This record gives sequence, C-alpha cells and structure tokens, in this order.
Amino acid sequence: MTSKVVLACKDCGSRNYSTVTNTASKKERLEIKKFCKICNTHTLHKETK
Ligand SMILES: [Zn+2]
Repeated sequence: MTSKVVLACKDCGSRNYSTVTNTASKKERLEIKKFCKICNTHTLHKETK
C-alpha cells in the first residue's frame, strides 16, 4: 500500500516535490535533501499534508 506525499522545502516552505511512500514501512515523516529552485541550493525537504 502506498500513499502520496508532498515535500516542502524546510527553508522557504515551497512545495517542490511529490512522491509516493510505502505506508507499511513508514514510521516517521520523510526528510529528503533535494534541490530547491527558490533557495537555489540543496535543502532539506519535509513531508506535508
Ligand atoms: Zn527553498
């Protein structure tokens, strides 16, 4: 079973990415380092709803 999550930049709050996650193996909120074009650098992106 999977669910869709939106990833938002931790620095500027911009929602740049969406991904699917396996809910069965998921315990905590995702935190992924990705490139933010607003910040123009790699920042930590957190799961939002
Ligand atoms: Zn950003």
